Amino acid sequence: MSNKFLYNQYSTFIKKHFGERVQKISLDGGFTCPNRDGTVGIGGCTFCNNDSFSTATKFRGKSITWQIDNAINRIGKRYQTNKYIAYFQTYSNTYGKIEQLKSLYEEAIKHPQIVGISIGTRPDCVNDEILDYLETVSKRCFLTIEYGIESFENETLKRINRGHLTETSTNAIIATSKRNINICAHMIIGLPGENIDTWVGAAKTISTLPITFLKLHNLEIIKGTAIAEEFIQNSWKLQTFDEYVDSIILFLEYLNNNIVIERLFDYSPSEMCIAPAWHYDYTTMVNKLRFIMEQRKTYQGRHYK
Ligand code: SF4
Repeated sequence: MSNKFLYNQYSTFIKKHFGERVQKISLDGGFTCPNRDGTVGIGGCTFCNNDSFSTATKFRGKSITWQIDNAINRIGKRYQTNKYIAYFQTYSNTYGKIEQLKSLYEEAIKHPQIVGISIGTRPDCVNDEILDYLETVSKRCFLTIEYGIESFENETLKRINRGHLTETSTNAIIATSKRNINICAHMIIGLPGENIDTWVGAAKTISTLPITFLKLHNLEIIKGTAIAEEFIQNSWKLQTFDEYVDSIILFLEYLNNNIVIERLFDYSPSEMCIAPAWHYDYTTMVNKLRFIMEQRKTYQGRHYK
């Protein structure tokens, strides 16, 4: 595999920024989500089962320091890393009182091996008070707010019971960028009712926004979710691996090449996942994608204007 530019890789960005490899550590801050507790909705987004995308839920109730030390003991040798980013991943990690947020984030920042924090949240879970405080954090460490955007189509957001509009996402992104905070956008490729035109449109929209990092997720149907019921009853087809790869290549072609790509595939534990049937490990999937992009002589931003 050559080193030719195919897309802007997160690992390359991180090595350049820190001068060495830095690993993310997934943490559970004990939060819930307004789309589950009745504030915005009940039952959550139709695709959501937090256990499928974060190993940290099993450490709920342990202190942040305990969780960081535990993770370093488990992964430090494997990844040969000394520096880490504390990733508040489970549920909505700005959904709490400012004192609670400060206490959790500051505990993470104080850890001697933590060089940054990433905070996963919903775009309707930030306000001026939280963002003003986070602006001060971003001056002390490498801070990223990861917004679950999922789709830029209001019809889709309604169908997946997301509980907010695309305007909410855009407003949160703009308010965050005014504080010079890194923003990571999470998008799902393959939601029902969407197609290749929707995703090209999303790539064009994202390219106009002040987004630093992007995570693309293939839709997975996880046991026990509302979308699993819908999938079983309607048996609509999910994309094959090849179709998904075609979609994300086109997405990347229309994407501003300054945006750094942090993730391109999901792979939940097979015992939790009803579909799709393809279960390759992450490296295999990325290598297949890179091989196809090289064959097609294409790259991120090829059609970006
Ligand atoms: S995906 Fe995020 S916002 Fe949606 S229900 Fe799950 S935790 Fe809440």
